[in-house]
Amino acid sequence: MATLEIDCPVCGEVLELTDSDRAELQVGDVLVCDSCNAEMEVTHNSGEDFDLELLGILTVCPGCSEEFEVTEDMLATAPVIESVDGVSVSLVDCPHCRARIELELTEDVATGL
Ligand SMILES: [Zn+2]
Ligand SMILES: [Zn+2]
Repeated sequence: MATLEIDCPVCGEVLELTDSDRAELQVGDVLVCDSCNAEMEVTHNSGEDFDLELLGILTVCPGCSEEFEVTEDMLATAPVIESVDGVSVSLVDCPHCRARIELELTEDVATGL
């Protein structure tokens, strides 16, 4: 059985989809990365044609421990700074306690948005 491998656009984790997994997926269904909880919506699923669109990243606020979703819109407006260890991080606000949270994203995601 053929297996489709998809790199998570956020953390790079490989998600494996078998033919039967794909058969159950429809356009508009959402896949969630096991590793980083990024949500991806299926935008194409026919034959060789399979595509996903990044929806949002579920993250847990280190301040109040509430889960919230980081969307592309939030990232588009979030200031990007360089953290102490030299990686680019996006600053987003927790909607619950307003804490500023540093999100580390791969360059692919930052430029792909
Ligand atoms: Zn991921
Ligand atoms: Zn919070």
